[in-house]
Amino acid sequence: MTKTINIAIDGPSGSGKSTLAKGLAAALGYIYIDTGALYRAIGLFAARHGVSAETPEDVVPLLPLMDLQMRLENGGNAVYLDGVRLGEEIRTSSASHYASQVSKVPEVRAFLLETQRNIARTNNVIMDGRDIGTVILPDAQVKLYMEASPQQRAKRRLLELLAKGEQITEEQVLADILRRDANDSGRDIAPAKPAEDAVFLDNSLLTPAETVEAALAIIREKLETVTL
Ligand code: C5P
Repeated sequence: MTKTINIAIDGPSGSGKSTLAKGLAAALGYIYIDTGALYRAIGLFAARHGVSAETPEDVVPLLPLMDLQMRLENGGNAVYLDGVRLGEEIRTSSASHYASQVSKVPEVRAFLLETQRNIARTNNVIMDGRDIGTVILPDAQVKLYMEASPQQRAKRRLLELLAKGEQITEEQVLADILRRDANDSGRDIAPAKPAEDAVFLDNSLLTPAETVEAALAIIREKLETVTL
């Protein structure tokens, strides 16, 4: 079997990973895997079972009861919980907080590890997350690490949340982003950090289309130099 091509995109919340990953998946014909959706699904499952976001480890004994599925649909990964496709309910700011909290729990990360690796073993993927280049796909042929200032990231997130009808201010969004950054990079297990061989891409001053172009240039160069 020919080896699949795996492109890892890591970086903090709101750095434009998913917008870039979707653009790259469309340009290259690869499958886009949004790993944050898996943590968000576990957060939702925890909330539905009465687990407090402040004691996320309480979800561990419930994990064997969880019916979580990832299915490939329309070039991306749809996530199903108890047979129901998850949508906007995992994109609220409360769902983000739950996801960030459960993602600190080692058993939760272990629970999701093989699901993520399996899909990359059998498909050409663009996978976005926090630990893709470091833990999930350390052999990915291309690793990108996205950066943008917290203020810029907060502005983008605010527009998304307002468009969904959430009542929230820019200050609250910035505080949430800084809290999630601290959570994600300060945790003991799989902290969000760039892989040693990651290429940094700061898109603070780039449009989404320019970011895709910049990433494609990096990918073309990398894929020429790696053995496939
Ligand atoms: O990427 P997204 O914002 O949807 O991720 C939600 C949360 O899930 C993040 O704040 C992070 O705590 C966690 N996450 C993670 N590792 C990943 C993807 C997401 O810890 N690979």
